[in-house]
Amino acid sequence: MIIDGKKEAEIIRNEIKKEISTIKSKINKAPSLSVILIGDFAPSKIYVKNKEKSALEVGINSKIIKYPKNVSEKEILIKIDELNNDKKTSGILVQLPLPDQISKEKIINAIHPSKDVDGFNPVNVGNLSSGYKSIVPCTPLGCLLLIKKVEKNLSGKHAVILGRSNLNGKPMAQLLLKENCTITIVHSKTKNLQNECLKADILIAAVGVPNLVKKEWVKDNAIVIDVGINKVGEKIVGDVDFDELKDKTKAITPVPGGVGPMTIACLLKNTLECFKAHQI
Ligand code: NAP
Repeated sequence: MIIDGKKEAEIIRNEIKKEISTIKSKINKAPSLSVILIGDFAPSKIYVKNKEKSALEVGINSKIIKYPKNVSEKEILIKIDELNNDKKTSGILVQLPLPDQISKEKIINAIHPSKDVDGFNPVNVGNLSSGYKSIVPCTPLGCLLLIKKVEKNLSGKHAVILGRSNLNGKPMAQLLLKENCTITIVHSKTKNLQNECLKADILIAAVGVPNLVKKEWVKDNAIVIDVGINKVGEKIVGDVDFDELKDKTKAITPVPGGVGPMTIACLLKNTLECFKAHQI
């Protein structure tokens, strides 16, 4: 089975659109997402544009606040403070990566946890790892929703996660732990990756190495989720050798058209959740 992330993302977007339309008709308010974009790194510009387009399509007001590459950290912190205190702003996102003069840590810490639609603020990270209600990073949340489309009950499954980034690997592990999976996280210092990967009932690859995961690394009938986005020549490929694996797995995500669309859908979902939390 090839998991159609585009279709699943569309279903989520339609649900969000419907809910926002109902909210608007009742209280004449809508969620609002502020995206801070620093510099002119081409991929960031594309990501931000896609996020804005998707937000507007579901009825979320979206505002891109642009700064030149040499903007000071102080100026960004002042803007975040202003947005934290702005009643109309439901969610704040600062597009990564940041230029060298700006500390990612300071920026992530400055966004109020209740407006942290990326789920990167340590308060949200701590809540997630404590098993409390939290805003969950968009990509791992999207991965979990795709996995649960294939298998509702994940209890006792062995999940192997390739990659330990704060963005993907670590929150993915917390989410699957909450689902009662047994977790292995592997990374660049892991000895014998293949042996570890062969244990997986569910394999999630988030490393950024094109086609790293080969047929011999995956047992029959595993669920394989490919987070990787790698440019090889003119082609975009994942971290998993899709062509080799597709007939061997129980379910697998393609790249593109797998996890990517779910990430944006989950960003919209998080923005709506932040908005609702502010109405209480
Ligand atoms: P990252 O911060 O660079 O982390 C990569 C992780 O992979 C690190 O933990 C690293 O290990 C590990 N790693 C690197 N090479 C390895 C190897 N040869 N063997 C085993 N482990 C290795 O990357 P990220 O931000 O998590 O992103 C990972 C990929 O997902 C990228 O391709 C990115 O473009 C993509 N991505 C996709 C989406 C989406 O929506 N689909 C969203 C975000 C990111 P160490 O910790 O030991 O260095």
